[in-house]
Amino acid sequence: MIELPEAVTIAGQMNKELSGKRIAAVERGHTPHKFAFYTYPADTYRSILEGSSVGESTDHGNAILTQIGSDHVLVLGGGGERILYHQGGETLPKKHQLLLQFEDQTYLTVTVSGWGNVMLLQHEELAEHPHVGETRVSPLSEEFSWAYFKRYFDDLVGDDSRSVKFFVVSKPGIWGVGNGCLQDILFQAKIHPRRKVLDLSSLERKALHQSAVEMLAEAVALGGRDSERDLYNHIGGYQRIVHSRLVGEPCSRCDTPIERTHYLGGACYYCPICQTYPV
Ligand SMILES: [Zn+2]
Repeated sequence: MIELPEAVTIAGQMNKELSGKRIAAVERGHTPHKFAFYTYPADTYRSILEGSSVGESTDHGNAILTQIGSDHVLVLGGGGERILYHQGGETLPKKHQLLLQFEDQTYLTVTVSGWGNVMLLQHEELAEHPHVGETRVSPLSEEFSWAYFKRYFDDLVGDDSRSVKFFVVSKPGIWGVGNGCLQDILFQAKIHPRRKVLDLSSLERKALHQSAVEMLAEAVALGGRDSERDLYNHIGGYQRIVHSRLVGEPCSRCDTPIERTHYLGGACYYCPICQTYPV
């Protein structure tokens, strides 16, 4: 799943390869997919996209926004989209949900695995969109300081029951962080995903902030995580610390076997000693 490090990586690569190119041909929905989210019928994609120029791509949380002509934005990311650039037709995938052919015979393809966004929106529709409309403070920005993050905790009232996982990936959420990046952020901060946020000590709260900022910056610097691929189909250089294949393997800090728990719609991987959960 594309999260913030991959959105930054792919948006940067799209700027390098696609910015200024004119779209010569479009195929939307070549391979049917129940959970590929489009916004218009195939004909409308073609009439909007064909002949238009590709503008700037920007990361937007876990999404990638690409300007199309003067009125539209192509919204990718946030799900299991494989977004690939092709210098010629030889590497085109058999299955895809969107194919853009440019005038210079290069291509962009989007292939959804699981679910994913292939949305085309007008600028005003983007601003009102429930999932991608909001612009928030990026955890990669200077504005995302400890003083800023601390306010998330200050806003909690006495009987708030939300867990750390919910707090990080949902409400209020760290922009662009999902269940993937969450794992290493909590491992480094030594916090169990089910802990109640209100029970975190002030040192743990600071550790959570620091861990998130450091993990995300490192994953961006290394071109995304090693579970994901970039625009050139290269695996990201950030090696995850805890993940599914390490269940039962020794924790890198204390040698205790890594455990798995299914929680809030996704598996969590953690060290039961470094990340204790009070019972
Ligand atoms: Zn450990």
